[in-house]
Amino acid sequence: MISFRQVNKHYGSFHVLKDIDLDIAEGEVVVIIGPSGSGKSTLLRCINRLEDISGGSLTVGGVPVHDKATDINALRRGIGMVFQHFNLYPHLKVIDNITLAPVQAGKVSKEEARRTAMHYLEKVGIPDKADSYPSELSGGQQQRVAIARGLAMKPTIMLFDEPTSALDPEVIGEVLSVMKLLAKEGMTMAVVTHEMGFAREVADRVVFMDEGRIVEQAAPADFFRQPEQPRARDFLSRVI
Ligand code: ADP
Ligand code: MG
Repeated sequence: MISFRQVNKHYGSFHVLKDIDLDIAEGEVVVIIGPSGSGKSTLLRCINRLEDISGGSLTVGGVPVHDKATDINALRRGIGMVFQHFNLYPHLKVIDNITLAPVQAGKVSKEEARRTAMHYLEKVGIPDKADSYPSELSGGQQQRVAIARGLAMKPTIMLFDEPTSALDPEVIGEVLSVMKLLAKEGMTMAVVTHEMGFAREVADRVVFMDEGRIVEQAAPADFFRQPEQPRARDFLSRVI
């Protein structure tokens, strides 16, 4: 579904991604971990072309993401992204935050968009908040709205970049539960997170990055028992 081949990327003279080879299969959940500044966000952002690459190839569903001929809007419609900061529109009700993009994309009527939005609000457990404003919600609820908003475009891939890092500890679990549900339903997911419990329990594969490289990839059971690479071991000893 997602395939990196020898992908390199520079920010000016800074070499942020180095020889990235990574495959994510349909229905697979890959958790990406590593120290701050190791290139995790950049890697995710290349997948929906929020970033250009300087070398190698990256395909999503066989489509070359960085090819000039690729319809970038169509590509992005198929890839939902959830960030640390939810970026909800404060002046719009929850339901309108969710229907905005599908309606603007011109694919569905307002009515159908509302039905779809309610479906996903139910999935994330807060259908009763449809007519609330984001400021009336807890951080965990706002992040669940952001996830519902991503799902409302009916993506085939969901990218999560530290979705719980800005949340109070007591609401982290409710967001992770929603992500776990999506994983169970077979969504293809790439998740950057510091939640090692989630990685251990939900990931099919853990990818450890350091200084722009994928240093190690393994099944969570193997990775958390004993990473092979000293840098991964050192990282784990500091976060667990
Ligand atoms: P991570 O998500 O693992 O913390 P990032 O992908 O955000 O890492 O960043 C990797 C490195 O690239 C960091 O050193 C960061 O400062 C740098 N970087 C990120 N975005 C930019 C940018 N737009 N321009 C220049 N440097 C950047
Ligand atoms: Mg980051």
